[in-house]
Amino acid sequence: MPIHEKSLIRPENLVTHEHLEIEGVDVSGHWSTFITSRALTDYNEQMEEEIGALPGGEFIHRCWQCGSCTNSCTVNALNQDFNPRYWIYLIRLGFEDELLRDKDIIWQCVSCNKCTYACPRDVNPEGVMKATAHWLELKGHTERKPSMTFDEIFADQVFATGKIEDGLVLRQFFKHTKQSLFQDWLIALVRGLAMRLPIGLLMKFGLATLFQPRTRGWRRASAAIAEYVDERKAADRRALRLDAQGAE
Ligand code: SF4
Ligand code: SF4
Repeated sequence: MPIHEKSLIRPENLVTHEHLEIEGVDVSGHWSTFITSRALTDYNEQMEEEIGALPGGEFIHRCWQCGSCTNSCTVNALNQDFNPRYWIYLIRLGFEDELLRDKDIIWQCVSCNKCTYACPRDVNPEGVMKATAHWLELKGHTERKPSMTFDEIFADQVFATGKIEDGLVLRQFFKHTKQSLFQDWLIALVRGLAMRLPIGLLMKFGLATLFQPRTRGWRRASAAIAEYVDERKAADRRALRLDAQGAE
């Protein structure tokens, strides 16, 4: 399947000659633009299977490369390098290194789902973008960001108690990311709340942060969620063969 868009050829792979003559024919300037040949050593023939096994990626095999997803994409309108159709093409062919060149923008999908509505093959490109971002994280291709720590603390608290205590989430987030609690914006926020909210409510917030109350009857729900999360993580690791790699 050839790539037709010139914009997708990396500038370093394009070679032009000011003066070039081939067999007596002058092909200088525009006509002498060549794409340098290269040997692919980065082929991952399991990539489509791996991303297809993650939530959202299930229908990637249906893609017929029409480009409707990219044409309708909110982020592509701002940055033409954000190209779901092209990434699906790379994933299906297993061009892992080529995909990794865009790893810092794939996560920028804003989940608007315009691509999903435009797709004639029900590929769910938005889901594929999520699965690809997840795949990058599981494979260790993206560095750990503070937002990942925040997500884990937030989710752990919901799973454990069925509630969100904002103060506790913030405290744990600052502790795990080694940040001081005494940040200007936080001090201003607490001052603002202290001036506006009734003292009884403030005390309730403070006590909840200390004692972490649970939603009534949450214990069974918490156990069921924990079981599901463990199963899901194990399935993801199996799909990406991460345990087998660790054992080698
Ligand atoms: S969901 Fe993501 S990939 Fe789809 S149109 Fe919106 S920004 Fe683009
Ligand atoms: S719109 Fe659907 S079928 Fe068309 S390129 Fe995008 S994912 Fe593939």
